[in-house]
Amino acid sequence: MPITRRSLLATGLAAASAAASGRFRPALAAEASVGVVATTGMIADAARQIGGDRVEVRALMGPGVDPHSYRQTRTDILAMTRADIVLWHGLYLEAQMEAFLTELGGKRRVVAVAEQLPREALIHHDSYADKFDPHVWMDPGLWSGVVAAVRDALVDLRPESADFFGANAEAHLAEVAALDEYVATITASIAPDRRVLVTAHDAFKYFGAANDFEVMGIQGISTESEAGLSRIAELVDVLVERDIGAVFVESSVSDRNVRALIEGAAARGHEVSIGGQLYSDAMGPEGSYEGTYLGMIDHNATLIARALGGDAPERGMQGLLAAGT
Ligand SMILES: [Zn+2]
Repeated sequence: MPITRRSLLATGLAAASAAASGRFRPALAAEASVGVVATTGMIADAARQIGGDRVEVRALMGPGVDPHSYRQTRTDILAMTRADIVLWHGLYLEAQMEAFLTELGGKRRVVAVAEQLPREALIHHDSYADKFDPHVWMDPGLWSGVVAAVRDALVDLRPESADFFGANAEAHLAEVAALDEYVATITASIAPDRRVLVTAHDAFKYFGAANDFEVMGIQGISTESEAGLSRIAELVDVLVERDIGAVFVESSVSDRNVRALIEGAAARGHEVSIGGQLYSDAMGPEGSYEGTYLGMIDHNATLIARALGGDAPERGMQGLLAAGT
């Protein structure tokens, strides 16, 4: 676990009281915080919101990291085997880590939080009948089920903190509900025939389903599949025929294919601009508003609404988005 100001303070206090009582007491014994390792930044954010100062959370995948292709490092393995609990997404998001996490689950407390969502709320995967689209964070209404699963996992681990975790979860769920409402309001201001979202990979189907958008990714649900030239040609047709003026790049996926799309449209005399960079599978910079779940989704929805001719405040739901978003 990272050493924080708080754990240092607690260690210091324990040492002081041990010195006062004149005998050794193990540091942090009474008030040990829960060591949480989360695979994605979004899950880590939920754990921090709910756990407050009673958890030490470490996210394995930082800003710009693609979860579909991420493999655990030696440092990650060490952190996971030392953690009190490992929270991962599931639904085949962490495709390269799945075998490791399943095996670790036989020995340690390991919870796949998105797997707790009811199956009927999920969108089926294009290519596999028995798999689902993992990008559930794109719909705050659905994500609230994951927040509840994180709360339940923490309560299960530390029942004595149930009230504390429960109250924090309730406060965060209210923020997520407000976000859900904001996203619905600003996307509804986009003309229905302009609600077409073209992105680098298919991460936005839940966003589309919740807000009445047609969503087209150049790559499929996983970034592991290569986009073929025929897929790019097909999407160029759509851009030209439907007069779509903006497409989006993603922070965790190369923009190569999106640029090929813009060039393809330009060759046919149709100008397409980049509507901006969306946070698809990873949050924004650490320490920024966009580096939180609320900020990530606020950024995406505000950017999309403004680029497609909708009405949304420049700095987003709470006036907290970085200028120039
Ligand atoms: Zn993805």
